[in-house]
Amino acid sequence: MPAESDEASTAKPPIYRGRFAPSPTGPLHFGSLLTAVAGYAQAKVNGGEWLIRIEDIDPPREQPEADKVILNALEAYGFEPDGPVTYQSAFAERHEHVVKDLINAGKAYPCSCSRRDLADASRGPLGTIYPGTCRAGCDADEFAIRLRTTEAPIHFIDALQGFQSQRLQTESGDFVIKRRDGLIAYHLAVVIDDHDQGVSEIVRGIDLLDSTPLHIWVQQVLGLNQPSYAHIPVAVNLEGHKLSKLTGATGLSTDDPRPSLVAAVAALRQDPPSSLQSESIATIWDWTLEHWQLNRLTELRKIPSSHYGFG
Ligand code: GLU
Repeated sequence: MPAESDEASTAKPPIYRGRFAPSPTGPLHFGSLLTAVAGYAQAKVNGGEWLIRIEDIDPPREQPEADKVILNALEAYGFEPDGPVTYQSAFAERHEHVVKDLINAGKAYPCSCSRRDLADASRGPLGTIYPGTCRAGCDADEFAIRLRTTEAPIHFIDALQGFQSQRLQTESGDFVIKRRDGLIAYHLAVVIDDHDQGVSEIVRGIDLLDSTPLHIWVQQVLGLNQPSYAHIPVAVNLEGHKLSKLTGATGLSTDDPRPSLVAAVAALRQDPPSSLQSESIATIWDWTLEHWQLNRLTELRKIPSSHYGFG
């Protein structure tokens, strides 16, 4: 089961355990800093723990050394995780077992549909809605594995974005848990690892809000506890697009992280005094934790990063 240290798996679970789970696709940028700051502050003000997990299970999208660049930046910005950094790839065997068990239980099935086969399918919030073509069986050498979904709506209350509901079968369709190229899909790995690491609260960008019903479904199928969710606004560039490697977001400087850290706290609507920039990283964190109120982000979906000096 848990691939963490024995100490962590036998210790009494804390009331609150959060995590930051970056994919090593590029350096830490202003948008990912916002997620890290919000998750860290929320864990700390709740007397909780906060972990770092590098989600390195999609090599084609990854950049060499990005994990180290991210971890160095997090350290320079004063984040102190409450446990060793974990790498998702280390849990691959566990992921594979779950996929096998789901297939054996008839809850997941092979699908040989190509992108072209699905070109005419309707589209939902997460892209193509799988029409169920291979539900009754398929015959092919190469296939993905999909998790069966149902018509029953999945509901949850997001701490920031409020009531959410999705009928998976009609709005997303049976979704891929193991890709045709053999890689385990994010939607499965993230749920298993959060569970195995005892994560109770998930703070992440609103771009993952529509994926959360899929995660809750995986939890329900596997009989796992449901953590709490808070989806924070994402940093967007002048065109309104989420900052990411794709939109050319630049890596954060680690020479003097103080102005960027204060800018992140300001972007998260905590109103830090600008004089805080010339204080130490430790003082910036003290101020932030003393004043932190997650609910200042309620129903906010976007943060214009240029307003805070980031492109
Ligand atoms: N690894 C995902 C990313 O970097 C985030 C996963 C999550 O927080 O659930 O976008």
